[in-house]
Amino acid sequence: MAIWNPWHGCHKISPGCANCYVYRRDESIGKDASVVSKTGDFNLPVKKNRQGQYKLTADDGIVFACMTSDFFLEEADEWRQDCWDMIRQRQDLHFHIITKRIDRFEKCMPPDWGEGWNNVTICCTCENQDRTDYRLPIFLELPIKHREVICEPMLEEINMEKYLKAGLIGHVSCGGESGSSARPCDFRWIKEVRRECIRCGVSFTFRQTGAVFIKDGKVYHLDRKVHLSQAEKSGYNYVPGTGMADSIKYRTPDRQALFERLSRSDFRSRFHLHANDKSYINEKGMDTIFSHAKDFVAKRLSAENPENDGRQTPMKGHPVFLAQHATACCCRGCLEKWHNIPSGKILTEKEQSYIVDVLMEWIRKEMEK
Ligand code: SF4
Ligand SMILES: [Zn+2]
Repeated sequence: MAIWNPWHGCHKISPGCANCYVYRRDESIGKDASVVSKTGDFNLPVKKNRQGQYKLTADDGIVFACMTSDFFLEEADEWRQDCWDMIRQRQDLHFHIITKRIDRFEKCMPPDWGEGWNNVTICCTCENQDRTDYRLPIFLELPIKHREVICEPMLEEINMEKYLKAGLIGHVSCGGESGSSARPCDFRWIKEVRRECIRCGVSFTFRQTGAVFIKDGKVYHLDRKVHLSQAEKSGYNYVPGTGMADSIKYRTPDRQALFERLSRSDFRSRFHLHANDKSYINEKGMDTIFSHAKDFVAKRLSAENPENDGRQTPMKGHPVFLAQHATACCCRGCLEKWHNIPSGKILTEKEQSYIVDVLMEWIRKEMEK
């Protein structure tokens, strides 16, 4: 990995910029980050050593461009074409350009951009829902070969499934904010975007916790040293089909506490067995209902990315369906939210038996009513 900062300095345009680290770092050394100037590294991609070889080689891997500014900043309009020329020249390198100014992309494209260049990934940042709904439709319309979305700092719950569904976004990453004025990031938001990625077959990275991290309603103040490692340790990165989520450690809830919590949910507590369901169960016998439950769980829930996830369980038609809604075993999202069973993994035998057990407990309780 290499970093190429052709110019330095920027101006704030978006809520995500409030605690910009470029400003923070410059302030700490008495520098004004709003002054935009070319750096001594402007020509880095074509710089050569004494032996006449490029300083940056393919071994450097990804070159992150413009990390102390924005590549599409107005102030840099006169300099950008030289950068495009260098990027074109270095087909052996892959450039990642992270921007909050995707709306300037079209104006800033080089004349021979065509359908996009293979050695450039454009990363569009989306810190909240408003910026997501503004930037992603523009992002999807542009001719770009490799697209990524970055939600950092993630400032609220963000839904982007309708954009991911287009199949044009290759990767999403999320993370919290660092620094002494960091705004909180809730693990719930991270998991929500991750689930959307799973449903759309998009890989996902939980990059960092940030300084103020909320988990299960509790606020944690975390030292900078652990922001990246804690996120990685959670196991919540996702790459389709790799079984990555198998290593996530979690505990299913205490059964009694779970049933109490379900009874306090207006939606969950609405479901009951009616006379016709009860006579169906009596007629078939509990063993048969148990095998139906086992079958539904295996066929509709256990895949890494079950078909129609979120809508796979009908609202009626079988007592087990009612039990699934009543106990939040209806889809992988509900299984994660209520039972802590991570999305994005094939359910083990043990996990499937746990679910069937919860369903049968609810059915037994209803039969006694
Ligand atoms: S666009 Fe990026 S570099 Fe520029 S002010 Fe905002 S956060 Fe800082
Ligand atoms: Zn559900």
